[in-house]
Amino acid sequence: MVTTNPFDDDHLQEECAVFGIFGTDEASINTALGLHALQHRGQEAAGIVSFDGKTFFAHRGLGHVGENFGAGSSHIANLVGHVAIGHNRYSTSGNSNALLEIQPFSSELAFGGFALAHNGNLTNAARLRSSLVETGSLFQSSSDTEIIVHLVARSHQDTVTDRLIDALKQIEGAYSLVCVAKDMLIGVRDPLGVRPLVLGKQGDAYVLASESCALDIVGAEIVRDLDPGEMVVITKAGIKSIKPFPAKQSRFCIFEYIYFARPDSVLEGRGVYHARKAIGAELANESRADADLVVPVPDSGVPAALGYAEAAKIPFELGIIRNHYIGRTFIQPTQQGRNDSVKMKHNANPATVRGKRVVLVDDSIVRGTTSRKIVAMMRAAGATEVHMRIASPPTTNPCFYGVDTPDKDQLIAAKLDIDAIAKEIGADSLAFISIDGLYRAMGEGGRNPDGPQFCDACFTGDYPIKLASGLSGKRVSHGNSR
Ligand code: AMP
Repeated sequence: MVTTNPFDDDHLQEECAVFGIFGTDEASINTALGLHALQHRGQEAAGIVSFDGKTFFAHRGLGHVGENFGAGSSHIANLVGHVAIGHNRYSTSGNSNALLEIQPFSSELAFGGFALAHNGNLTNAARLRSSLVETGSLFQSSSDTEIIVHLVARSHQDTVTDRLIDALKQIEGAYSLVCVAKDMLIGVRDPLGVRPLVLGKQGDAYVLASESCALDIVGAEIVRDLDPGEMVVITKAGIKSIKPFPAKQSRFCIFEYIYFARPDSVLEGRGVYHARKAIGAELANESRADADLVVPVPDSGVPAALGYAEAAKIPFELGIIRNHYIGRTFIQPTQQGRNDSVKMKHNANPATVRGKRVVLVDDSIVRGTTSRKIVAMMRAAGATEVHMRIASPPTTNPCFYGVDTPDKDQLIAAKLDIDAIAKEIGADSLAFISIDGLYRAMGEGGRNPDGPQFCDACFTGDYPIKLASGLSGKRVSHGNSR
């Protein structure tokens, strides 16, 4: 779909994972492993582009990494070379040209081959895209990422890195990028460092990944996170760091800690698991419930529930069991099946909750669908009271920087106050962690606009990167995997 309406960013959303490696003959297999570790960041499609010094090789396919690059797939053998980049795409609604949407994108530009993969979301994509189309660019996809390729292609700068910098100076939004060109692996983070990008070392090879769990799987050590606004250029001669943008205070996405990242990842020096436990503990300090059990909504609520249980001194029990084999493409055969669809993912464990007062802990409430169903499930399994505790403040604003949240009018907390939400989801009580409590859990004294700050726009509406006029409150993402 070609999006030329400046207010219609509906198809431009990408919440994804990126991975890149330079300096090993096993670049593509390492990339497949890295993408596998990052599968939670995107399940719709996966792609790898490799380079052997002369030629680019690519495979992109719908579905999980394992379906495209797992055992029995011949694709890895064809992806030769000492450099590779890869991408997992977040679930979006079907598009008839879906294959053309799958990253990494690669093209033959004036200076040679150029491949690019992007995690994030550009806020001025619609405007840039229409001006590029008006002046003759032919887009293959509806993705905002392709705009960067066109800007690099059109740049009059001499070197690839200068062309890329020239392109990046024209874009606004959140981006972590990995690129391959001219026997270089390039990694870049946007000037506020909204999305993660970590640098690692595996022997002589350098690795770039959205999260450190992807370094672990390939046996790479964490070197450091890229700084906000930093570009690293990796060649046979080593690594060079460039700071093309004026220094700004970091605004790393706090939702990465709450929900998005894997608990075994370390982001910006903080372990995600411990951050989630600390958030749960702070939530208990703020809103302790008188109850017999703490039950997590698995999997995302588990670390916060552990922290809550420890701080509140209430026993922790797995009162809900999650089925991990639920697939996106599962076809529900009957209407009854559709009505019971929540049971395909979660089922109550009556042996633990019957006759008990339960505190349910989840990471977030978006539309309220999950909470409503899970509270009812707890009651049906015999819980006598259900107190819901949420390890994030109320989600009142859409994300324009790469996390898939719906329009404001679908966000339950944008429409109802806390008592009304409690009533709507059927809970005996409901509490969210406060924004200051969240910052305290992250080791900051509270939210201080003059101090270290995260991007917390989904909770506060304080958008650190300007939005195209008309965007606020509007859905920018397309579909989701919930
Ligand atoms: P909802 O059912 O709409 O209230 O969504 C809340 C549930 O979705 C929580 O259990 C979260 O773990 C999960 N969740 C929150 N944000 C996202 C997201 N961006 N993508 C997928 N799932 C999410």
